[in-house]
Amino acid sequence: MSGKAIRVRGVVQGVGFRPMIWHLARQHRLTGSVWNDAEGVIIHAFGNDEDMEAFIRQIPSQLPPLARLDSLEVQDLNAMPDDEFRIVASRENHSVQTPIAADAATCPECLAEIADPANRRYRYPFTNCTHCGPRLSIVRRVPYDRCHTSMAEFSMCPRCQQEYDDPADRRFHAQANCCPDCGPRLWLEDGGRSMLNCDDPITRTAELIRQGFIIAVKGLGGFHLACNAADPDAVARLRQRKQRYAKPFALMARDAEMIARHARLNEQETRALHDKAAPIVLLAAHGMTLAPAIAPDDNKLGFMLPYTPLHSLLMRELNAPIVLTSGNISDEPQCTENDEAREKLAGIADYWLLHDRTIVNRLDDSVVRLMDGKIRLLRRARGYTPEALPLPAGLESADNILAMGAELKNSFCLLKNGQAIVSQHIGDLENAAVQHDYRNAVALYRQLFGFNPKRIVVDLHPGYLSTQYGQALAAAEQAQLVAVQHHHAHLAACLAEHGVPLDSRPVLGAIFDGLGLGDDDTLWGGEFLLADYRNYTRLGHFQPIALPGGTQAMREPWRNTFAQLLHYFDWPALRQEFAELNIMRLLTGKPLDTLATMIARNINSPPGSSCGRWFDAFAAALDLHGEQVHYEGQAAIALERLATPLFADEQPYPQAWAIDNSVGLSVLRWQGLWQAVLIDLKRGTDKARIAARIHHSLVAATVELLIRLSRQTGANCIVLSGGVFQNRLLLEAVSQQLRQHGKTVLSPQRYPMNDGGLALGQAVIAAARIAV
Ligand SMILES: [Zn+2]
Ligand SMILES: [Zn+2]
Repeated sequence: MSGKAIRVRGVVQGVGFRPMIWHLARQHRLTGSVWNDAEGVIIHAFGNDEDMEAFIRQIPSQLPPLARLDSLEVQDLNAMPDDEFRIVASRENHSVQTPIAADAATCPECLAEIADPANRRYRYPFTNCTHCGPRLSIVRRVPYDRCHTSMAEFSMCPRCQQEYDDPADRRFHAQANCCPDCGPRLWLEDGGRSMLNCDDPITRTAELIRQGFIIAVKGLGGFHLACNAADPDAVARLRQRKQRYAKPFALMARDAEMIARHARLNEQETRALHDKAAPIVLLAAHGMTLAPAIAPDDNKLGFMLPYTPLHSLLMRELNAPIVLTSGNISDEPQCTENDEAREKLAGIADYWLLHDRTIVNRLDDSVVRLMDGKIRLLRRARGYTPEALPLPAGLESADNILAMGAELKNSFCLLKNGQAIVSQHIGDLENAAVQHDYRNAVALYRQLFGFNPKRIVVDLHPGYLSTQYGQALAAAEQAQLVAVQHHHAHLAACLAEHGVPLDSRPVLGAIFDGLGLGDDDTLWGGEFLLADYRNYTRLGHFQPIALPGGTQAMREPWRNTFAQLLHYFDWPALRQEFAELNIMRLLTGKPLDTLATMIARNINSPPGSSCGRWFDAFAAALDLHGEQVHYEGQAAIALERLATPLFADEQPYPQAWAIDNSVGLSVLRWQGLWQAVLIDLKRGTDKARIAARIHHSLVAATVELLIRLSRQTGANCIVLSGGVFQNRLLLEAVSQQLRQHGKTVLSPQRYPMNDGGLALGQAVIAAARIAV
């Protein structure tokens, strides 16, 4: 007979961990008890050595679906054995340190119940259990108990209470437990706010979708707008009413078979679709086409599978995928409240499928894409947040650091007890409603994680709202303010995610994105750095080119084409030589003289080494969105799409780039590439071929410079990050070629490589600078 005290850390509360231990202990004839405390779960167990050993060995393999085990420590225990094994109630007012689980897609058991006419939860759209259902989306406060969630409004009926109290039941301590007798209810409304009289609102919604109507659907983390994806008129109407003309719409399909009719998917992508986080997976369109307005200039379709019982029941009645795009107007956040949705979506939706469970925390759908052999998060929200990342060796004691993130695709990050908690995707802070959401989310996370920042980390850019808010917070809280360079933060985020220890040798990084402020007060965005967590050195960059009109240059790609050509060539001669090209015709209609003067006098035309604008400039030259883009990256996405089919057959242009070392740094100059592209255009070469050659030239130049810098510095590990690397051709070709040179390549997977991952990097840099 021996006694053991077992300390468990990880995601182990509110996920059915204690019942699992209870079952396992009884299987092995152990006595003792299990309870939650501030740091996770503690088990006291008594039994013979053989049983004890088997029990401890089996814990990691018996984890419930939503649990995550970070560590398990076993110590001898000298105490009187108990007579049985018990689950002990949570100790009161324990300080909050254990993570809340992320929201999870409906589990197979719950799906079976809602499909079984004999089950009391047959067709009940809010069915959930310890293994699935809402978590962060309904939490108001910690600890995660029903009274601190939006399920507090619903008191459990005797049968639900019985399940909740029974350790042998799948719903033991399932905080969101409910049934048709006691839980939330669903109804359908028309535009006049009158409830439709129908037997089953889900069946009626399916009928309306088939008839071509647009339905506002209240989901898990916010409202969606739904319509039949196979109905071109319905999708076009949705685009028109939403006044969203370009960004692709997400889709939901009943199952993977349905997706396979419209897109190509391999094993990894199929697994990602079925993940408990149920993200949107970007897939190559293939086979039967859907409404063309779903993704107007993209060859990818973003598909997800049903992740709530409501979605499952709805999709079972439909034979085609539905559009399921965020229910918002223009760039505002998704609606979460019924009245808000009734009001704001009035000009867009025909009907509203509503329920009376409050969405406390807005969570957008997460987006992933398979690139270079790995599933990578491009937008991290529902299903992933607030999962914590244990920090690498050397940063385990990081604490009380709050990083505010960037301006676009904002998320923020808390460092607490050696873990990084990155918030869900908040959005673009340019929008007032998003700013409001941002402040609320920061306050909520501070409450949820019992967090008081001692250091607040911001971007170097003084104009970012996140920087200004961070400054105000730091002043109010008397916290230390730390400013971190944008591209260094991208690099450090990637190191942290891959567990690179604090005192590792510096790595090389190619960080390509739209724009970020450099430490010389100019705009950067095509950067080659040597860096560790604490410091960085800029070793190279793209040739800085004026951004005429400043932010206008982000919206109107032709401005970048003009600035590039003006920089590299004698403009009047060039204009004459290539006069018949479409891009020249487009430019001729623009106020070029004014722009040239602005550039010459440096009036509102800051030079930037941006790789994003470089892509825009070439896309415009190939007649892709030259006039204007509706969102950052639109032109680059179109260029990637154009290049994809011919990429494998093409090569870089010879002498397309030059590496100029005259200023002490390696500057990538692109005069040769421009010349080759213009000549190809004049010859009438297939633009897809030109797009492929542009991509190859960028790949070859990047690899050549990185190899050269690697030789100079002795650094053999290379980080590729920044939003531009969401271009699959670029990421895969650069990674493969670097590996052929024997280099180790790291690129982001679990956190976005775009600015959505920036806060993690900001936080770890601040932590590293104070670590001893
Ligand atoms: Zn379940
Ligand atoms: Zn009930």
